[in-house]
Amino acid sequence: MKTLLLLEDNSERIEAFEATLRELGDDWQMRVWRDAHSMIAECEDHFGDTHLISLDHDLNPQPGATRDPGTGVEVAKLFASHFPFCPIIIHSTNADRAWSMHNELRFGGWTVERVGPIGEDWVKKLWLPKAREMLKNSPRADIFQLPENHHERMQRAFLSLEGIAIGDAVGEMLAYRHYQASEIIERGLPAGPWFRTDDTEMAISIVEGLKLYGYVHQDALARRFAWRYEKEPDRGYGSMTRMQLNEINRGGDWRQGAANAFGGQGSMGNGGAMRAAPIGAYFADDLKRTADEARASALVTHTHPEGVAGTIAVAIAAASAWLTRNSLGDERRKQFFDAVLEFTPESKTRRGIVIASQTSPSIEIETVAKALGNGSLVTAPDTVPFALWVAAKHLDDYAASLKQAILAGGDCDTNAAIVGGIVALSAGRENIPTKWRQQKERLPFVDFS
Ligand SMILES: [Mg+2]
Repeated sequence: MKTLLLLEDNSERIEAFEATLRELGDDWQMRVWRDAHSMIAECEDHFGDTHLISLDHDLNPQPGATRDPGTGVEVAKLFASHFPFCPIIIHSTNADRAWSMHNELRFGGWTVERVGPIGEDWVKKLWLPKAREMLKNSPRADIFQLPENHHERMQRAFLSLEGIAIGDAVGEMLAYRHYQASEIIERGLPAGPWFRTDDTEMAISIVEGLKLYGYVHQDALARRFAWRYEKEPDRGYGSMTRMQLNEINRGGDWRQGAANAFGGQGSMGNGGAMRAAPIGAYFADDLKRTADEARASALVTHTHPEGVAGTIAVAIAAASAWLTRNSLGDERRKQFFDAVLEFTPESKTRRGIVIASQTSPSIEIETVAKALGNGSLVTAPDTVPFALWVAAKHLDDYAASLKQAILAGGDCDTNAAIVGGIVALSAGRENIPTKWRQQKERLPFVDFS
C-alpha cells in the first residue's frame, strides 16, 4: 500500500482527506497524527511505504490532551534531517509559518509545495490536483531496502549500540582514574545517568540509518551526524569532526569536507571505528557485505586508508563476535582474528592487528598497550589493534572487557566503546550488569520511556 502521512488536527478535514484519498487509487492508505510530538515519534516507522506527506501548521490541543500539540514547523525540521524521498504538501492557512516550513524543507532538498486551504471542498479541488501533479513529477525515490530478517538484525544492532553506550560512558567517567578502573568498578560506580559522548551519538546515527534503509545510505548518514551534532554539540566531538559537521549544517557537501580533512590526507582518526560495531551486528551473516558497508560509513568523515581500515576491522570483529558466540577458548580467538585479518585492507592498522593476534592473552595490559598503543594518538592504528586484543581476551565477559579497556589509559571512552560494542554481541545482553544498563543515559531504541 502507498501511504500518505498526514499532520492534521481537524476532524472534518481528516474526513475530507480520507474521501479524497480514494480518488488517488485503491492502493492508498493514510496515517494521521493530530499533534506534532506523536508524529515525530512514530512517523519514521512508516517511511517504507510513504509516497506523499501533507502537513498542517497550527494544531489545537485534542480533548483531554495534557501537553502542547506543537506545530508543523517541528515536524518539518524532522523531515529536513532526513534524506528526501517523496513530495511534501504544506496545507496551512498560517502563511508566515507555512513559509518557514517550506524553507526548512527546501533547504533539506525536499520537493515541497503549498496549498492554501481556501473555500469549500479545498481538499478535493486544490489539494488533490497538486498531489497528482507532484506524484507524477517527483515520485518517491526507492531508497529503502529492508531485508527479510530486518527485525532480527536490528535486535543485534541495538545490543551492540547498548554495548557502545555503556563502554563510552564508563570509559569517559574513569578516564582520569583509569589506573584504578578495576577497583572503582569492583566497588561500584557512581549513580547515573552516565553520560555518553560523540562515540555513542554517531553510533546512534548509524543504527537509525540501518533501521530506516537496511544499509548505509551515506547522504542520509552525513545529514544525521550533522543533525545530532547541531542538537547537542557538547558531546566531546574532535575539532576536525566539528568542522566537518558544521560545514554540512551550512549546506556543504560531506564528500568535500571528508576529502579536505587534514590538508587533503583525510582523517585517520577513530571516528569511523568507534561507531562501526552495529554495522557488523546488522550484516553478521555476510562478512563481505559488512566490510563494504563499514567502508561506506567511514568515508562520510574518514577517507584516510587507516581510518577506513580501522572501521572495517571493528565491524568485522563485531560480526565475528556474534558468529563465534557458541565457540570456546583459543579456537574462538583464532576464528575472531582470522575473520578480521581476512577483510581488513593492508595498512598499519592491519599490521597492528596481526601483532595483536599473536600477543598472548595472558600478557599484562600495560605491556600490551606499550606494544600496540592505547589510543593516546587518537588514530586507528594506535587504537584498533589494542581494542581488538582486549575484546578477543574477554569475549564472554562484558564487565571484564571494559575494565581492561580502561585500565591502560589513552583514549578511554573510545577504547571502551569499541570493545563494548563488540563484546556485547558475544557475551549477550544478560551478561551486561543490569545496574549498568539502568544507569546509562536513556538510549533511543533500547530504552523506552
Ligand atoms: Mg568520545
